[in-house]
Amino acid sequence: VTEIDQPTTASGEAPRGPGSGVAVEAAKRRTFAVISHPDAGKSTLTEALALHAQMISQAGAVHGKAGRKSTVSDWMEMEKARGISVSSTALQFNYRSAGTYSEPTDCVINLVDTPGHADFSEDTYRVLTAGDCAVMLIDSAKGLEPQTLKLFQVCKHRGIPIITVMNKWDRPGRSVLELLDEIGERIGLVPTPLFLPVGIAGDFKGILRRGTDGEPAEYIKFTRTAGGATIAPEVHLDPEKALATEGEDWETAAEESELLSATGQDHDPQRFLAGETSPVLFASAMLNFGVRQLLDTLVDLAPPPRGRDDINEQHREVTDDFSAVVFKVQAGMDTAHRDRIAFMRIVSGEFERGMVVTHAQTGRPFTTKYAQTMFGRDRSTVESAYPGDVVGLVNATALAPGHTLYTGKAVEYPPIPQFAPEHFAVLRATSAGKYKQFRKAIDQLDSEGVVQVLRNDVRGDASPVLAAVGPMQFEVVTARMTTEFSVETQFDRLPYTLARRTDAESAVELNRQRGIEVFTRTDGALLALISDKWRLQFIQKEFPKLTLEPLVATA
Ligand code: GDP
Repeated sequence: VTEIDQPTTASGEAPRGPGSGVAVEAAKRRTFAVISHPDAGKSTLTEALALHAQMISQAGAVHGKAGRKSTVSDWMEMEKARGISVSSTALQFNYRSAGTYSEPTDCVINLVDTPGHADFSEDTYRVLTAGDCAVMLIDSAKGLEPQTLKLFQVCKHRGIPIITVMNKWDRPGRSVLELLDEIGERIGLVPTPLFLPVGIAGDFKGILRRGTDGEPAEYIKFTRTAGGATIAPEVHLDPEKALATEGEDWETAAEESELLSATGQDHDPQRFLAGETSPVLFASAMLNFGVRQLLDTLVDLAPPPRGRDDINEQHREVTDDFSAVVFKVQAGMDTAHRDRIAFMRIVSGEFERGMVVTHAQTGRPFTTKYAQTMFGRDRSTVESAYPGDVVGLVNATALAPGHTLYTGKAVEYPPIPQFAPEHFAVLRATSAGKYKQFRKAIDQLDSEGVVQVLRNDVRGDASPVLAAVGPMQFEVVTARMTTEFSVETQFDRLPYTLARRTDAESAVELNRQRGIEVFTRTDGALLALISDKWRLQFIQKEFPKLTLEPLVATA
């Protein structure tokens, strides 16, 4: 039997009185997302973090009998079949830092899980907007991989501070300096290691903690536990003892630390928060090496929730009236209930279950009777929550990613920018007589932001065109059509690879051109789908007056 402590909010401890309690609670929160290329070890790290926060008695317990395909954050059938994470969850746990950098502190950690597959980068992007910080997880043997690179750039673009974790140091891989150089060169972030590994990749003995000027402060020696199922015991040694114990391996780490200091690669809080540098840790999520240090780094160095600017550039402080942003809508999490959950990230104020909030996009009241926190498949009802927390609202059909909820003074936060779609397909119902249901289902998936839905008069309503960032989104649509709406559908890929924003005037000429078709998106935008970039260049040259604007670029 898996023993899981239900996530709790620290409401009981909050001092009474408006504002003050919220400020205290907000200051305790650290909300972050882990981003990585598939297989870098995100699920393993998630479990290791939960283990350190003592939510789960044994890391292995959540693996289940069938191997590691049923971890805390994976649940859909499709995920299991492919071994990838399609949907995302939010985990919350209490953690008392060990005081690596400052006095031991009680914190509430919110981990927003991200889908790792490249096809779901749009989803990943939305999830990133819910965090105050990102942990970039890298497989030390592989270094930067395409997906990592893209997400890194998104964070950098948005000014989200990034902590880098070089994972799998227990396996033979590349050298410390080579990996660090790659980050500097390919992303333009200055890597500033907080720790350096003692022992080459594949011979992970422990870590050297770097002092403020990069001098070796201490050696933390790890001991392996059976199967990495429990917290790895640590021994802390001063540099002298470290040298006596590890000899050359210690010397190498100390020299690397000196070298990094000479090139200015020491941690600087301001530059980190400004998104210019990235603190680096070396770890083995599987062995639980360096995981506690990551938690302490989050507690001591990562930013707590801050307020946000609204669409009128008015700043809402964390202590103001309640407000939250919906960043993700997820359906089919529980096939038994067929429900639909809107995840909101609280921006300001205190949330209490049952309170009636205003949905900024419609101006309508919205009751929050069914608010929940999620922990994998397990849910618990949340009674109160604070800035930085993620709360799931069950069957909140009106809510879509980017929407704002509030009480008191009205507020609306800027919408979440969309990625430009690059894959297009026509969707048709293959079961006869299900048109009404088909229509309803499409509207539903559209409002959730699963895909963008495009229509034009020529194709008609029965065969809408779906626009996606990655082709797997089409499979999600057909799977959900079957399971949730009992409509069998079939999609056929269209030979377009680009979308450009256009206007009614240009549309007439564009529709006459080969390899181009104009559609209306649900939000009213006119989009021209184009076969390829050469076609686009040709049209732009032939008809320079036509409107063909790139869609909002986020990366
Ligand atoms: P995800 O796709 O990023 O969620 O990666 P997983 O957590 O599923 O890990 C992918 C594979 O790498 C699994 O076989 C893990 O057991 C393995 N793995 C994860 N972390 C480590 C680590 O620190 N060391 C080693 N040797 N293997 C790891």
